Parts: sequence; structure tokens; C-alpha cells
Amino acid sequence: MFKGITGRWFLSTMLVIILIVSMIVTGLIFAVTYLFNTEVERSLSSVSNELTAVFDGYTADNSTAFAQEAHDYVENFSHKEQMEVMVLNSTGRIILTSSGFSFDEGEEMPDFNSACESDNKSAFWSGQLGSGENVTALSKVISNKNGNVIGAVRYLVSTDGVINREILLCAIIILIGLAILGLVVLTGSYFIRSIVTPVRQLSETADKIAHGDFSTKIEKRYNDEIGELCDSFTEMAKDLEATEQMKNDFISRVSHELRTPLTAIKGWAETMQISGKRKLDRRTFDKGMGVIIKESGRLTGIVEELLDFSRIQTGRMVLLNEKLDILAELDEVIYMLKDRAVNEGKHLIYDEPEAVYPPVFGDRNRLKQVFINIIDNALKYTPSDGVVAIEVKYNEHTDPDNILIIVTDTGCGISPEDLPKVKEKFYKANQKVNGSGIGLAVADEIMQLHKGTLDIESGVGVGTTVTLKLPVMKEG
Ligand code: ADP
Repeated sequence: MFKGITGRWFLSTMLVIILIVSMIVTGLIFAVTYLFNTEVERSLSSVSNELTAVFDGYTADNSTAFAQEAHDYVENFSHKEQMEVMVLNSTGRIILTSSGFSFDEGEEMPDFNSACESDNKSAFWSGQLGSGENVTALSKVISNKNGNVIGAVRYLVSTDGVINREILLCAIIILIGLAILGLVVLTGSYFIRSIVTPVRQLSETADKIAHGDFSTKIEKRYNDEIGELCDSFTEMAKDLEATEQMKNDFISRVSHELRTPLTAIKGWAETMQISGKRKLDRRTFDKGMGVIIKESGRLTGIVEELLDFSRIQTGRMVLLNEKLDILAELDEVIYMLKDRAVNEGKHLIYDEPEAVYPPVFGDRNRLKQVFINIIDNALKYTPSDGVVAIEVKYNEHTDPDNILIIVTDTGCGISPEDLPKVKEKFYKANQKVNGSGIGLAVADEIMQLHKGTLDIESGVGVGTTVTLKLPVMKEG
């Protein structure tokens, strides 16, 4: 029960509160008892003060005269209803009581003995009589002018009623203390439960997610930090599910991508092997070898892309930067893709600028890879007779720090819902066209490593424009 957060809360908060409440309750009980006792003693003292007037200047030295004087005092005592008054002789024997009943001789009277010994000749005592009654007594010793003790007057008041009231008040104080503790436990356990229950749910859900069950949802009960945590968790589960789905799609897509060239290579290799003996005609042989070379190249491309992707994922992609003429690199890529565009019946337009542009500090092969990915996509998603135009812009007045490479196509375009996601890994907006869905993710990462940007604008049915912005090299 007292494990974890509950245990820590009990130790840090509850123990302190229990301690404080106990201290307050004990203090109040002491205060109540003290107040009641002093009140009784105060009332006895105020009554006993009359004695000073009665026996002041008392001179007689014989006990008979004292007894007579005391008798008159007791007769006229006006508080008989509230207390009993007794007259004692010099040896402490009771000679008179206001109630008229004979007092039990065996009763002890510690207050009388203390009064005889004390300087002010008076003393209190609280205790229980033989009858079980609780009393408080005040004895005042009477001396004559010569200082000889001639007797004492003793006041006795029952404190049973006072003690009952004391007990009642103390019980109320204890009950209030317990009620406060109960309230603290109640609100505290509600508070703790509002943390512990969702945290427990979170850990159970995390466990389920770890075992591949992404469908679990956490109910958001509170609109606070815990609620936000539940929301983030549900969001994370959703993202993980989507990533898991994308990963699975990716694996099946890549397997498919690998299988197509492999089937072609295997098919042509078998054809050549079977017909090895009866000499294959030159045209068929060349066609077969062409397919094998082209498809092996495609396989290498896919593997390279996968390797790059894995390097990016693990942060192991290192750039081999050097001073580059970006136009020359772009020219090479366009030259490489020109034949393909012609074969596919697409118009690849590029007007190489006349001016000399400032150099770029970057990794030659990685930047060429970005150009290939972008132009390859433009060709891939543009139907025959479509146009893919490439333009390089540099303006030393308006933006002297960057070179822009703009690739525009008149292809199928990307819908506004897909546009923000196409740069994410594994994301494919167009499932009909072959591709692993990581080309743009890799290109974007390479651009970021070069402190550049990759922006895409697109309209469905209109076409797509990809703008690559690369910082120029600062001389010196
Ligand atoms: P893929 O291997 O599928 O081409 P990419 O990461 O290169 O993967 O591109 C992600 C997605 O972006 C593609 O599946 C495609 O839907 C969309 N896309 C990229 N370039 C273009 C383009 N020029 N025209 C239309 N859609 C494009």
C-alpha cells in the first residue's frame, strides 16, 4: 500500500500533517485542562479571600473562642450551594462542616499539611475522595497575632461536572483532529490516484506497444499535465503505428523493387544458358545483355539508396566537401538522364547559364545524388510528352549568398494533403509508380547537411516545382 508515489506522499506529507495535527490536539487538550483547573482554583481563592476580613486582627489564643468565631463564619457562608466549607482545629481535625454531615476522618487532606508548611499558609489539592468523587480543596491556615496556628478553614468543591465538560471538550478536539486527518487522507488519496492510475495505465500501454499492439488508447480523464501526457502517449502510439505500417509497406515495396530487376536478370541469364549451345543471334544476345546491365544498375541504385538512408538514420553520413562548380555537376546529371527522357518521350529542357557562378563548398557525389533524385522524380511522375524544365538562378544583388536550382515538371502533381508529408521517410503519395519512398527524405537530409533547403510546390494536374537552395562558398 505504501509503495511508490503513495509511500513517498505518506512519508513526506501525511507524517508531517499527522505530527502537526497531533501536536495541536495535544496542546489544545492541555490548554483546556489547565483553563478548567485554574478556573476552579480561582473561584476557591476568591471565596477564601473573605477569611482575611473575618479573622484579621484575631488575638484569642484558645481554641474554644476560634471554634465560636468559625461557627459564625460557616453559619453565614453564602456559597454553601456550590462548595463545602470545613473548619479544622490546629491538629487538623475537622470540627465543623457547612453541610452538617460528619466528614470521614480517614480522608486525607494533603492541602492542609501543605498549607501549614507553605509561606502564605494556604494550599490547593485536587484528587478523589473515598466515595469516588473528584474534588479540589483549598486549605487556609488561621494564625493569631503571635503567629500560633489555631486552626484552618478548608473549602471543598466537587469537580465531577468540570471533568465531564473537560472530557467532552477534549473528545470534540480529538474528533476535529481526526476529521482533519480523514479529510487530508481523502483529498490526498484522490490526488495520488489521479496521478498513479494514469501512470499505471501509461506503463501498461507502453508494455502493450512494446509488444506491437498500437491500437491501445489511454482515456484522458484530467485536463492537466497528466492529461497532456496521456494525449502525447496516444499520439506517439498513433505515430508508431503509422511508422510501423510505413516500415512494413517499405519492406514489401523494396522487396518488390528488388524482385523485378532480379527476375529480369535471372530470366535473361537462363535464356542465354539454355541457348548457349545453339548460338544465340547477335541482336537477342545484345538485348539480353542490355537488360542485365540496366537491371543490375537499377539494383545497385536501390541498394545505394538504402545504404544512404541507413547512414542518415544512424547519423553516419559524412560529407567529403570540396570547392565545386555546381553547374558542371548539374550538367553531368542532365547529360546522364537525357537519353532516358528521350526514350520515354519527355522533354528535358535546360538552358545552361552563360554567366560564371560562385563556387559551392559541398560533397560532389551527394549533391549529384540530390539532382538525380529530383530530376528522376520529375521524369517518373510526368507522362510522355510532358516537360521537365531545369533552371539555375543566382542574383548577386537580391540574394548573393545562395544559388537556386529549380526543377519544374508538368506531371501529376501532389495533393495538398500529401505535400507536407512527401519528405518523410517511407512516405509515398503515389502508390502506382515504383519507388521506395525514401528518395526525397535522403535528398532533404543531404541538403540540410549542406545548410541548404529543399522546397516543393505542387498542384494536382498542374505539375510540381522543386527548389533547391544551396549556400555559395565564402571566399577567404
Ligand atoms: P519515391 O521513391 O516513391 O519516388 P520519393 O521520396 O522520391 O519516393 O517521393 C515521395 C513521394 O512524393 C512520391 O511517392 C510521390 O508521390 C511524390 N513525388 C515526388 N516528386 C514528385 C513529382 N515531381 N511529381 C509528383 N509527385 C512527386
